[in-house]
Amino acid sequence: MYDLIVHNARVYPDFQAGKPAPVASIAITDGQVSELGVGADAPAHKHLDANGAMILPGFVDCHTHLCYAGNRMDEHAARLAGTSYAEIAARGGGIRATVRAVDGANEQELVEQSLPRLQALMREGATTVEIKSGYGLSPANELKQLRAIRRLGETGGVRITATFLALHALPEGESAGKYVRQVIEETLPAVAEESLAECVDVFCEHMAFSVADMLAVFERARELGLACRAHTDQLSNLGGTRAAAESGVRSCDHLEYTRAEDIAAMVANGTVAVLLPGAYYCLRETQTPPVSALREAGVPMALATDLNPGTSPVASPLAILHLASTLFGLHADEAVAGLTCHAAKALGRDNIGTLNPGAKADFTIWDAAGPEFFTYQLGGIRPRHVYYEGILNES
Ligand SMILES: [Zn+2]
Repeated sequence: MYDLIVHNARVYPDFQAGKPAPVASIAITDGQVSELGVGADAPAHKHLDANGAMILPGFVDCHTHLCYAGNRMDEHAARLAGTSYAEIAARGGGIRATVRAVDGANEQELVEQSLPRLQALMREGATTVEIKSGYGLSPANELKQLRAIRRLGETGGVRITATFLALHALPEGESAGKYVRQVIEETLPAVAEESLAECVDVFCEHMAFSVADMLAVFERARELGLACRAHTDQLSNLGGTRAAAESGVRSCDHLEYTRAEDIAAMVANGTVAVLLPGAYYCLRETQTPPVSALREAGVPMALATDLNPGTSPVASPLAILHLASTLFGLHADEAVAGLTCHAAKALGRDNIGTLNPGAKADFTIWDAAGPEFFTYQLGGIRPRHVYYEGILNES
């Protein structure tokens, strides 16, 4: 006896190998997919007639910075008016502006300000969301941010996975050497001790941290049982993608300046490429990631909102599907794979982002003709229903 059968549907179970042929029904038991294509008369506690609707795996937003206080609207306006990022940073803007706002907020305020952003992602069908720290910088404020992320995980109807963004920006007046030592000797062990994150991330960029800093943090993180990911090649190529891939990270994220030799390292090490068209769009960048080369090499391309207060205030997975197609040239099925199975891979999970038997029953029901509708219409789309572990999200 199944708990639930949704029939008269077009269920797309897995976009791993392109757009799959849809099946007509999905059966759920104990929050997991039990079977696909069962007859409408199979025994179940509940039957749901989808009236021909499309069913997709719940979206996995595998790269966000949505836990923060305040906003940076002024900075965005200044940038559009021609002020450079360097000038904004020199005035105390940029990441440090959010660091000050997070410093001035307590854990409860961080949760209250971040929850509406998380709910916006959920309304568009996100059932798993990764959230990074990285606006604390001091050990106490990083832990505060990670505890707020843990509380966001108690929201219900969504799975939250926390990443300690160990190296994001240098605190005012601090030297890189001293700061990296503090992260390795103090903050990382404290994060591991409280089990506040499953992964560690580093911003490897000329305006942020070096390849050597990144690798030093990864080494300590692995000793403490944490997985690793990296922000690389967003604004320049420091060799970060290659070094991170060779060290065994789950994913390299951004990749606008990634070259052939970096892609070869990703292939050799099974690294996921996480593309972030929201940041590319908001910063009005002109260098696109090497999508054709990644596709040809068979590197799994994930997508994410990168939801953050500075470079990607984009609280919409559906907008990301559209931008990935329009700006980066992803096909509709590649874009949906990017927000489902490939994003799951970037998080090291194989039981989400698909609806194959045994997977978590996280799925969305859409009145859309096919996945191509997402890369066609921008705005005005919402799932009819979102199910998380077999339970309907009421919102
Ligand atoms: Zn990021």
